[in-house]
Amino acid sequence: MNHVPELFGSMVFNDAVMKERLPEDVYKALKRTMQAGRHLHADIAGDVANAMKEWAIEKGATHYSHWFQPMTGVTAEKHDSFITPCKSTQDQVIMEFSGKELIKGEPDASSFPSGGLRATFEARGYTAWDPTSYAFIKDNTLYIPTAFCSYSGEALDKKTPLLRSMEAINRQALRILKLFGHDDVTMVNTTVGPEQEYFLIDADVYAKRKDLLITGRTLFGAKPPKGQELEDHYFGNIKPRVKAFMQDLDEELWKLGVFAKTEHNEAAPAQHELAPIFTTTNIATDHNQLTMEMMKKVAARHNMVCLLHEKPFAGVNGSGKHNNWSLSTNTGLNLFEPGTSPQDNAQFLLFLCAVIKATDDYQDLLRVCAASAGNDHRLGAAEAPPAIVSMFLGEELTEILNAIESGTSYDGKEKVLMKVGVHALPRFPKDTTDRNRTSPFAFTGNKFEFRMLGSNASIAGPNIVLNTIVSEVLSQFAYELESTTDFQATLHGLIVRTIKEHKRIIFNGNGYDEGWVREAEQRGLLNLRTTPDALPHFASEKNIALFEKHRVFTRQELLSRTEILLDNYCKTIHIEALTMLDMARKDILPAVNTYIHELSDTLLAKKAAVAGIETVCEEALIRKLSALASSLYTSINALDRAVTMVKDREHTDSVEQLAEFYKDRVVSVMQDLRKTADEIEMNTAKTYWPYPSYDDLLFSVK
Ligand code: ADP
Ligand code: MG
Repeated sequence: MNHVPELFGSMVFNDAVMKERLPEDVYKALKRTMQAGRHLHADIAGDVANAMKEWAIEKGATHYSHWFQPMTGVTAEKHDSFITPCKSTQDQVIMEFSGKELIKGEPDASSFPSGGLRATFEARGYTAWDPTSYAFIKDNTLYIPTAFCSYSGEALDKKTPLLRSMEAINRQALRILKLFGHDDVTMVNTTVGPEQEYFLIDADVYAKRKDLLITGRTLFGAKPPKGQELEDHYFGNIKPRVKAFMQDLDEELWKLGVFAKTEHNEAAPAQHELAPIFTTTNIATDHNQLTMEMMKKVAARHNMVCLLHEKPFAGVNGSGKHNNWSLSTNTGLNLFEPGTSPQDNAQFLLFLCAVIKATDDYQDLLRVCAASAGNDHRLGAAEAPPAIVSMFLGEELTEILNAIESGTSYDGKEKVLMKVGVHALPRFPKDTTDRNRTSPFAFTGNKFEFRMLGSNASIAGPNIVLNTIVSEVLSQFAYELESTTDFQATLHGLIVRTIKEHKRIIFNGNGYDEGWVREAEQRGLLNLRTTPDALPHFASEKNIALFEKHRVFTRQELLSRTEILLDNYCKTIHIEALTMLDMARKDILPAVNTYIHELSDTLLAKKAAVAGIETVCEEALIRKLSALASSLYTSINALDRAVTMVKDREHTDSVEQLAEFYKDRVVSVMQDLRKTADEIEMNTAKTYWPYPSYDDLLFSVK
């Protein structure tokens, strides 16, 4: 570990390697392709492929793989070896990798979800190299980051629309910057740093929990006597086993060029967080996928399991992912950094207002991109941000906006019109992040932190949405400003109007507060509590128009994605329900009956041994547990009926109706079943209980 600088990126075919290994003209052509975000020209692909192969073989690679991000939310790969039979003799092989193989792959992709986009007769989608993300080596395989499309050109993955949305925001932001005289800027990029939360538990304890194994979360489990009440875990001392894991993880990630930076304990016992240094959005997205994969792999080496589920344990905090997002120019300007001169301030305010208006106009989309069956347990559950989308700006910045809107001075005493672009903004202190922990979307000084995402989500979704909705507002602003003869006055009017019309989305208070739900309703904000409530908004006419205008999704792509996500919701709950039934019938009911039997034996033995002996305790427990066992049995039957009923409807109902049914009729019965089982657990001797308890799980790593 003394050689971090040498270690960092040692498995990445990065700029330095390209420069060293490619002929100068090829290197230059490749760089141009990367900067313009275009596909690689076939002429130079052969040279690049060859250099990549030579480099990869020196590093021990034997295979290559087109690496892509289908709609499953995880990454997919298909491995091919470099071997090719020698032309002269069939007994020998040479290692080959052609330009064609680099640029394009054809995985048999018929089993990836496509939401009806790809009929099975044209099942073969293709993968195309995304030269803006570097190739890398992992497990003796050269990985080539690719986009995944159908032959008719529809995106079947998360990367293609992300790249399209980055192009959209680049186009629109450049229009605005031109108006402010930044002719030197030729490219605007979105940057992202995703903070990743996770749990670590001992692998042996994990293996005894059927629910964790199958669904990634505990479906049963009584609350432990000690949860996170004492808040002694947050930023606490890191245990040696966890420390060893973190070191190992950092090393693996650094080799892959991932900027793993900060590691600490989180709020719940056994919960931790990793934050990388921010980078360009599509690279950050690739890196976050690699980070999640490496977390699981490295944990296994330490005989631990890394849980990335949004809510592995009821009653303790779930895990989220904070998407820190900003805009920066190729000249090094962060567009959300408040400026020092009136002109810089005006530009900052305009971009800020664009985000405010976008958030208000497209609350539904921001909610949609965080929607999943697992995340429903977090959003609105007094721990994660609520399901209501709002924005935190901090008291000071909000007061400044109020002053601009009402034409008073910042401290509110004098009635001096603060003219945007003429007067400088007062310096305002940055709010500490602690104060906005309950906000779904917080401005944190020079970036926005979107905090609704669940820990296992791909960050492609929220960034596609953020980039597109802000593109739309920037395009409206640009249109208005480009056609005016009095730029300053129009700009001022535009900012005042935007604040007036959209300030309802700004909320600096406590998002966990019950009162906020009522207030949000009065403000007319959406409260899409669950995934089936939220997802249908994805493909509303308004949103189809938005995504088509900015060439991010076609109508078909949106409809298919909505269907995939709803279907995923149904399947997740279906699997959870079946797992619960299995556990309740085969393990929990037999366990409680055995314990009742033991108690009955004890009762009878005591009575036979000593006439008139006290047996209140045994009798009471037998009664209580028998009653609970009956109600468990009732819930099992109710859940069984609900699951059968929904299966019967599969052929007649739409996926939207099915999702509603799961939400209204299945989830509630699952909750009943769990409640009874947890009460049984609390009253059953530990030796009889078939599973490790919450204590055993949460404090399994010493
Ligand atoms: P805070 O402590 O205020 O949350 P940090 O500096 O710790 O801020 O950053 C948290 C995350 O935000 C990190 O992953 C960091 O890389 C990322 N981040 C910082 N600046 C930017 C930016 N301009 N764009 C995107 N992400 C950023
Ligand atoms: Mg944070």
